[in-house]
Amino acid sequence: MVLDRINFLKDEINKANYKYYVEDNPSISDFEYDKMFAELKKLESENPLFVTPDSPTQRVGSVSEKFFPHKHKYRLYSLDNTYEYEDLEDWYKKITKEYGEQELVCELKIDGLAMALTYENGIFVRGVTRGDGITGEDITNNLKTVKAIPLKLFEPVSVEVRGEVYMPKESFEKLNEENLKNGEKLFANPRNAAAGSIRQLDSTITAKRDLSMFCYTAIFTGDIKNPPKTHYESLMCMKKLGFKVNPNIRLCKNAAEAVQYCKEWDEKRFGLDYATDGVVIKVNSLLVQQEMGFTSRAPKWATAFKFPPEEVTTKLIAVEESVGKTGAITPVAILEPVQLGGSTVSRASLHNFDEVGRLDVRIGDRVYIKKAAEIIPKVVKVIEDEEHYKLPEYTPPEKCPSCGSRLNTHEGEVNLYCDNPDCPAKRCAKIEYWVSKDAMDIDKVGPSIIEQLYNRGFAKTPVDLYKLSMQDFMQLDLVKEKSAFNMYSAIQESKNRSLSRLLTAFTIKNVGKETAGVLANEFGTLDNLMNASVEDLSKVEGVGGIIAQDIYDFFRKPENIEMINELKSLGVEPAPPVENISDEFKGKTFVLTGTLQSMTRDEASEKIKRMGGKTSSSVSKNTSFVVAGENAGSKLDKAQKLGVIILTENDFLNMIGYGK
Ligand code: NAD
Repeated sequence: MVLDRINFLKDEINKANYKYYVEDNPSISDFEYDKMFAELKKLESENPLFVTPDSPTQRVGSVSEKFFPHKHKYRLYSLDNTYEYEDLEDWYKKITKEYGEQELVCELKIDGLAMALTYENGIFVRGVTRGDGITGEDITNNLKTVKAIPLKLFEPVSVEVRGEVYMPKESFEKLNEENLKNGEKLFANPRNAAAGSIRQLDSTITAKRDLSMFCYTAIFTGDIKNPPKTHYESLMCMKKLGFKVNPNIRLCKNAAEAVQYCKEWDEKRFGLDYATDGVVIKVNSLLVQQEMGFTSRAPKWATAFKFPPEEVTTKLIAVEESVGKTGAITPVAILEPVQLGGSTVSRASLHNFDEVGRLDVRIGDRVYIKKAAEIIPKVVKVIEDEEHYKLPEYTPPEKCPSCGSRLNTHEGEVNLYCDNPDCPAKRCAKIEYWVSKDAMDIDKVGPSIIEQLYNRGFAKTPVDLYKLSMQDFMQLDLVKEKSAFNMYSAIQESKNRSLSRLLTAFTIKNVGKETAGVLANEFGTLDNLMNASVEDLSKVEGVGGIIAQDIYDFFRKPENIEMINELKSLGVEPAPPVENISDEFKGKTFVLTGTLQSMTRDEASEKIKRMGGKTSSSVSKNTSFVVAGENAGSKLDKAQKLGVIILTENDFLNMIGYGK
């Protein structure tokens, strides 16, 4: 039984290794690979008799026959890895037992491809991939095209340097976009793009790809003044010689500090322009490193902590065609549930039907899904194996899945639209948007209640919500008196939401919550805005001629005028406008990051708008202030880099007049 499982895992891992190392086209995600690898390691340690020299646990990577093989003078190793902080602490405990407290160096684990670069008297003579650690592929000519690799060092030393060739995230996205256009294969992630680019037989293709390299190990093969005694000194020495060394290295006193570093970078990693899949933690003393030595595949003096995965693979069960508030039909991937970024994911975005066609998504496919910070998961790639080609191609719908109307395209847009104004799904989506957090924020009334209200004829439009009585709610399935009261009250309480929220809820073409906020600040009341001319509107910052015309047209349509009058008669009147426009806020752009203790980000954002300021979700040189709450991440770093004024929560409270 155990042997069967071991053999199964070995086979699966070997198959995955071939796709990953030789074809640069992985068939499973790293997370799934690591899970199988960890299981195999555990079974082998419990059953040592079943360990064979050809087991993937005893080996490092693999070599292809694409290039000339080159035997490494000094062996290259892999790293043991874990996803648990506890294992990191256990690893450190074992070290301290034998060698006493040790300083550790924490480095980001660059998700690229390991290389060994040889320099003789300061001149670059050879570059070889890690391969299986003993033999690699000689790709000297390709490496010469990577600008971060010095061809001549600042000092004439002889040294073998190891590092990671990688492709910046932005360049990876661009390369995939181009490949999509040209019908060429997509790379699953920046690591595979880097591997596919650096291992090209034609160096001119490599030269066109944007590759870089961070170096992290130096073995001095000739004489050198003051040879480094620690790993940290060695990194500094490499930097002095002209190598690119990652700037985010930290010397830590113990495992607790290393864990702190891992936690920090688990948050901040999304702001980097290169991919990192974890942190490498190394014993600083080179003497202790030497004494500790290696296992058959990894150093004992280093370990990798891997971040929870950003992407995993799973099966696409169906494509749901969902109807939005504007009638746009968006495809949503329905997935076999899978763990990703700390939550179970069973739905992911497919953007639009153009994207579905470009990705060649077919129901039954295995797909890569990815979740970056604060972004809903999306399908990034289909695994194009034999199974994929056996599946029928997906065809976009011709009729609305809700009302059966024929779908149309709108000029200049990629979406398919249902133009039936009475489409039930579209009407429900409009009500859902009206109650959403960004609009009127009526959180007690969710999608299933809206569907029931609609189906029973109680609410066909958002305006109808304000005509509902408690008794109406009591007639809905599973609604008791208390929740009926809560829903009824939540709707009543929303009647005096700000003008900016009401404008957002209107879903005026091209007017999202940011523009709604600017318009509310500028015009103060709904009547002023309704009376504004196209010229008045187009003078507002961020509102060009086209948007001005859209706003103007919205307020001229009889059905919209009727809706506004009806709302007014039902008591839906925005709260008094702009409280006290302050010079400190007028025309200033704020970016909120991290968690605020005294209010939610939405509340802070509303406050800023009411005082005449604007908010933005990203930091640029045009940002006036960044308000940094707890655990602020990459936005704070960017603000520091750009010299943007950073406010603590207290500074901000003082500015809005809430300070103590
Ligand atoms: P690894 O990538 O987990 O770790 C070792 C490597 O980390 C080193 O060889 C080095 O190249 C790299 N590294 C990056 N930054 C470093 C730094 N600062 N200091 C030292 N080393 C650094 O191990 P591996 O042996 O290269 O590959 C195994 C891993 O590759 C697996 O854990 C898995 O994530 C992935 N893999 C995936 C598949 C798949 O099908 N998806 C198949 C094979 C391997």
